[in-house]
Amino acid sequence: MTSATPTCRACGSTQLTLRGKKTGEFIREEFSFHTCCDCELLFVEPFSGFEIYNDAYYRGQGPDPFVDYASEYRDYRCTDRALEFADLARLAESYLSVSPALLLPRSPPSPAPLHWLDFGCGAGGFLKFLRERGTFAGRPLELTGHDVGSYAALLKSTDGFRILDFDEISREPSATYDVISMIEVIEHLPDPASAVALLARLLKPGGLLLLTTGNLDCPVARRHGIHYRYCTPEIHVSLFNPRSLARLYRAHGLEPLPVRYAGTVVFKVVKSLRHRRVFRALAHLALKFPPFVRLVDHLYGVSAMPCAVKPGSGR
Ligand SMILES: [Zn+2]
Repeated sequence: MTSATPTCRACGSTQLTLRGKKTGEFIREEFSFHTCCDCELLFVEPFSGFEIYNDAYYRGQGPDPFVDYASEYRDYRCTDRALEFADLARLAESYLSVSPALLLPRSPPSPAPLHWLDFGCGAGGFLKFLRERGTFAGRPLELTGHDVGSYAALLKSTDGFRILDFDEISREPSATYDVISMIEVIEHLPDPASAVALLARLLKPGGLLLLTTGNLDCPVARRHGIHYRYCTPEIHVSLFNPRSLARLYRAHGLEPLPVRYAGTVVFKVVKSLRHRRVFRALAHLALKFPPFVRLVDHLYGVSAMPCAVKPGSGR
């Protein structure tokens, strides 16, 4: 996988600056961090493959100790992710409320379904959250997930969700989805440009892309450089800042959409304290105060990362 002359994973530029090298804590080899001079993407070489996403990873015994697929699959309501799901739903509702093309049903007696794709649905917590809602902005939800691995298989066979693998999602017709969520996924992808191109194609005009990923230009990241905890080279290989993400959207015909997160910020903090119960309880308490949430949001640059919309309302 190592390339003698790496190219930017987002824009293909060969104008790169080597930011530094770091040995993985899980895969004991040296990884290089490059910054693209054209689009500012920070990316990792070599890409160590998707084999690392196995059952041990899902148990939090891989490079990300905060992963806990078993709890989320069993009952997402008992995990902190419920905070994030409610926040994302709030953002989508807020967008839909000012987007008549998506909100207004064509025929009021039987509103058209709202087609929602969760790209990288993992343990399926968000799909279950949405299924329990049943409707969204007055429209019945039609849910599809995309992922591979043992939990994707379970969600399909046991929970009856429509789950598509790589080939199936690539064959979906254009302009199929009103909303696509891509939650903490893009940083794992060796070819984020292809993924955004695919999602831009699958969105309906006026459709919403709800995308979250770390911000490599936030104060905490700037302070720590490639030693920022988010820079885990075995799994986080495409690292964005607000400008590089907006540029990638625009390169594929999407318009950046500013957002203001709340529960998502709280979730990120308490998740990182999963193994420290006392601090986690204190954080839950402190994060009930909006000024504290805004401070954390500033330090980690959560709301600085835009979502995106597909221009037009041709439905
Ligand atoms: Zn680039």
